Formats: sequence, C-alpha cells, structure tokens
Amino acid sequence: MAGLSAARTLHRAGIQVTLLEARDRVGGRIHTIHHGDEVIELGAEFIHGRPPDLWRLIKEANLDTYKLGGDDLCHENGELKKCDEQDETVGFLDRLLAWKGPDIPFADYPPLQALPPDQRNQVINYVQSFNAADYGQIGVHALAVQQQAEDEIESDSIFRIRGGYASLPEYLADDLRRAGVPIELETRVDRIEWQRGTVEVHAHTAAGPMHFRAEHAVIALPLGVLQQRAVAFDPVPSALAQADQLRMGPVRRFTLLFKDRFWAQQESVQFPKLSFLFAQDAMPPVWWTPHPAYSTSLTGWIGGPRSGAFDDFTPTQLGEAACRELAKIFNLPGEFIQAQLVSCMSHDWQQDPYSGGAYSYVPAGALPAVLAMATPVNDTLYFAGEHTDVTGHWGTVHAAMRSGVRAAQQILSAPRTV
Ligand SMILES: Cc1cc2nc3c(=O)[nH]c(=O)nc-3n(C[C@H](O)[C@H](O)[C@H](O)COP(=O)(O)OP(=O)(O)OC[C@H]3O[C@@H](n4cnc5c(N)ncnc54)[C@H](O)[C@@H]3O)c2cc1C
Repeated sequence: MAGLSAARTLHRAGIQVTLLEARDRVGGRIHTIHHGDEVIELGAEFIHGRPPDLWRLIKEANLDTYKLGGDDLCHENGELKKCDEQDETVGFLDRLLAWKGPDIPFADYPPLQALPPDQRNQVINYVQSFNAADYGQIGVHALAVQQQAEDEIESDSIFRIRGGYASLPEYLADDLRRAGVPIELETRVDRIEWQRGTVEVHAHTAAGPMHFRAEHAVIALPLGVLQQRAVAFDPVPSALAQADQLRMGPVRRFTLLFKDRFWAQQESVQFPKLSFLFAQDAMPPVWWTPHPAYSTSLTGWIGGPRSGAFDDFTPTQLGEAACRELAKIFNLPGEFIQAQLVSCMSHDWQQDPYSGGAYSYVPAGALPAVLAMATPVNDTLYFAGEHTDVTGHWGTVHAAMRSGVRAAQQILSAPRTV
C-alpha cells in the first residue's frame, strides 16, 4: 500500500513512475484468498476506526464494508462468559499519556508492575497480541503516541471489507495501470546503487536481470527485508542503521474453516453472535469470527514472542492442535470439532522473504529512528512503509498509505536535477 500510494501521488503530479514488485500480486501484507463463498484474510483484515484517508479511498473504490460486532467472550477457569476486561486494559493504556518519565520498555513501566497479577497478564497479553511486540522491548513513549493516535480515530470500532481487503490494493493497481503506470510484478530488486540525483536499481525477473534508472526512488520495502539486508545498497544509507533500531514483530495467524458454526448451534454451546474470544490459558489466546457476516470460520491469532508456538507445524498439524484447544474452550469432544474441520489456512509472514515478519513496533528509545527513516536521503532515496509512519499508527494499512503519500510529497518538493 505504501508503494501504490506513493506511485499514485507522484503520477497525479505528472511524474513518470514505475513500480517494482517481487511477488506475482500487489498488496504485500494484504493477502485475501477465497474458499467457496468465504473470504479469508491471511494478512491485514481490519480497518481500525476511521482513518479519513483510508476511508476516502474505500469510498472512491466503492467497496462494501461492515462493522464488526457481537458478543466478546472470555474463557476463564474453564468457563466461557461475556467479558469487559478489554475496557480496563484500554483505560490503563490511555493513562500512558500522562507518563512524564523516560522512554523505558513497557515491562519496566512502574504502573504495570504495580497491577495485580491477573490484570497485569491481561495488559501484557493485549500489548503483545495487538502490537506483535515483546513487552520487554516495546517503548512506553511509542505506546503512548500510538494510544493517542488510536483514540483520535475511534479505533475501537472495527470494520471489514466484505469482498476482502485485497480489493483495495487491486483497485489502486488497476487505477494506476489504466493511467499508464507500469507495475512490474515478479521483479525482485536485489541491489540499489545511488548518488545524489541518480538511482540505478538492479532487479531479477523470470526473463533475467533488469535495470531501472531514475532520479528518485521510494523504498517501500518492509522493515524485515531492510533488516535482513536482502536488498544491497551502494553506498549504504544511514537509514539502514535507523531501521535496525526498530523491531519487526512476529504473528501467527490462521483461519480454520468448518462445515458448520458448531459454536452457534450445540445444545451446550450457543454463541451465534460470537465476535472475539479471549482465552488467556489457550494457544492461541485470541480468536474471532467475522460476525455479523455469516461465516463458518474461526481465526486464531498469536502476536509477539509466543507466536512461535506452532512453528514447523504443517497446516494439518496446526488444524489438529487448534481443534484440541477449541475443544477445551468450548468443552466439546475434540473428535467432534476435528470432524467439522474443512481446512486450515495460514501464511508464514516470518519466513516470507518479502516481509520478514508481520509488522513493526518501536522499542524503547527508538522513536527518533522512525523520524530519521522518514527523512529524505540526499534528496534521492525516500523510505516508506508502515514502519516509517510519523502519525503513530505503525503496523497498519493506513500507516503504509500515509508513508507512501509522505514520501511522494517529499519528492515533489525536492530540488530538481533535470
Ligand atoms: C497477519 C497480519 C495481520 C495484519 N492485520 C492488520 C489489520 O487488521 N489492519 C491493519 O491496518 N493492518 C494489519 N496488518 C499490517 C498491514 O498489513 C501492514 O502494515 C501494511 O499492509 C504494510 O504495507 P506496506 O506497504 O508498508 O508493506 P508491504 O505490504 O509489505 O509492501 C511491501 C512490498 O514490497 C515487496 N518487496 C519485498 N521485497 C522486495 C524486493 N526485494 N523487490 C521488490 N519488491 C519487494 C513486497 O512483496 C510487498 O509487496 C497486518 C499484517 C499482518 C502480517
């Protein structure tokens, strides 16, 4: 979304632009697949609140959206019941704004340490899940900035694009193609040589090596790709050292598709409006349905350090393990749930060479690195992507869009060499 947004802003300003994309599709960490009538998101799924720029684009693209809602359930001491603890957690995080102390890791934040163990665990789980972060690393200043940014866009309201999130980048790509902007898919950038006013990009395609030359380049590579040095820079810009100060968080997300909504129609289990399900003692600890959209799917989510729990599992093993957890949560026979399972769908963003993780977070002391990454390099290289967002919405689609527009605007106001 960062690259597409940058390309659109530049093209509309009359600048000639070419988009280079390693995958055979646009959208990057937005990745929708379809299974029969089911719309399955393997990457970004939710529109968090009302970021105006994102909603403008959704409206322009004429995409159908709906608001998530229903019953949020908590599994505690072997019992499923409606929960309201998230409000307490959000209230606790809101109070971070009043913190006048240094930028310390959240784990060292004195009010967290003072919480009773149960509530403390809830807050830690929330922060780790939502931010894909290690609470021993994520900084309290970034958390406070993020909390304020979320409050401003009412991000407790969550929406979905009915036909799948991928319709959004596809709309942008179609719009660009119609306008004559080349989008080179399956074009993996390996090396970027540059000096002020000139960039030479060396890429690999099925047809062999390709070279592109330009006056400016927007580098909308994910943080994980930059940190792995999967693309070589000559000379190495200082932005890479800044990138190393940020963190790429891991997530394990999978969707289980069942024959029926067994959680809605058993004698002992009747939760037809199930929305989110929090089960701190289960793995994954967070589940959801796309309710009120009808679906026979349940999605499991592990963000942060615990996301490695199912590493090396095949989809079948993952499905089996998840069914065992669901059997415990719903107190139903494991074989029954297993027999309901049609498919288990997941994407490993950590092993994906074109993402190197799920999304970024800002560790203690690293806020200046974000600002530095968003600063043009010799009026020639412009880093974009969710990790370079300066509005506090790291790890979201609207952050990516904004960063792309920001990079494009920086190019438009740069001194011209030709
Ligand atoms: C599991 C998961 C769930 C998420 N859920 C949400 C959500 O509910 N709501 C939300 O707002 N956000 C969510 N996010 C975050 C959101 O998806 C990202 O913040 C956003 O899509 C990032 O956009 P981007 O343009 O910065 O990066 P990307 O989308 O990663 O784009 C970077 C592009 O660079 C390409 N690339 C990489 N290497 C090369 C190379 N060498 N040469 C050429 N091209 C290359 C990639 O293929 C990719 O297309 C989620 C992310 C994940 C992984």
